[in-house]
Amino acid sequence: MSIDVSIIVPLYNEEAVFDQLIQRLTSVINTTSFTCEVILVNDGSSDKTDILIEQICEKDKRFTGVLLSRNHGHQLAVSAGLNFVRGKKGAMIIDGDLQDPPELVHEFYKLLSDGYDVIYAIRKNRKEGFLKKMAYSLYYRLQKKISNFNIPIDSGDFSMLSKRVVDNINSMPEQSRYLRGMRAWVGFKQIGYEYDRDERQAGETKYSWGKLFELAFNGIFNFSDFPVKIITRLGFFTVAFSLLYFVYNIYRKFAYNDVPQGFTATILAIILFSGVQMISLGLIGEYVLRIYNQVRNRPLFVIDKVIQEGEQKTTTNNKVEI
Ligand code: UDP
Ligand code: MG
Repeated sequence: MSIDVSIIVPLYNEEAVFDQLIQRLTSVINTTSFTCEVILVNDGSSDKTDILIEQICEKDKRFTGVLLSRNHGHQLAVSAGLNFVRGKKGAMIIDGDLQDPPELVHEFYKLLSDGYDVIYAIRKNRKEGFLKKMAYSLYYRLQKKISNFNIPIDSGDFSMLSKRVVDNINSMPEQSRYLRGMRAWVGFKQIGYEYDRDERQAGETKYSWGKLFELAFNGIFNFSDFPVKIITRLGFFTVAFSLLYFVYNIYRKFAYNDVPQGFTATILAIILFSGVQMISLGLIGEYVLRIYNQVRNRPLFVIDKVIQEGEQKTTTNNKVEI
């Protein structure tokens, strides 16, 4: 079977939405003018998602199941899926909760055939709560300001990638992954596609605030030198200010012999600059941590099982044996 497009779906405890997802996906891949496979990645679910994946993969050979050994997080689950892409033209990445309509594969494929390498979906609206919406909006705008190159605003991982972009991303060994940044980094012809993001069709969000913060930090520290540079600038500014203040005090001492009282000011300065120093150390620590994670050179994920062509495959080093 020759496959044109692989659709990657990461799933973490998604039993509630699973049947609906498979229905939508099946009716989509039944109607495409090109051939599709679906790669369902189980990200160490503790509910029945893994069993459901095995069942559908045994029943319909167009579905491949990649089951990870434990919960690795969304970005790594998608990375695992990318490693199993057999689509000759490329791959599409969607969420499992049907917030990203799989029907868009038709439109995306047209753009891919027109010569675009990356088609990224831009969210016209969000259906999350007010606080989350504000946080997202502020974050994307901050990131745009400080990142070393242009990462499109309001676009998530929902996208279609050409085969060469998939290969490029697969060859990037970075541990703390921020796929939408890596995708932008690869380059080639990229285009945004505006769409209305639906609501999650069933179940609860699997992105805790902790996971969101981790993602946000990766977006900033992996793609921007700004945090470290701001420390240096702040340092220079502080030194310059303190020198001026020193000169001013010496002048007052000799001209009027009145040494300023300023106990409160002293304490304030100590507390303020201790805080600044702690933040600065933390910012440097973020980079050191990333270096540490990288030099350990662990594999990005561990695979438990792969079900392809309706049967379980043996895997070594996270690859299917042929
Ligand atoms: N997901 C995952 N591993 C995780 C968290 C989430 O594979 O640790 C999957 C989840 O099953 C879903 C997608 O990533 O298919 C997006 O997650 P979710 O919809 O919960 O995030 P939100 O849309 O609320 O930001
Ligand atoms: Mg969602």
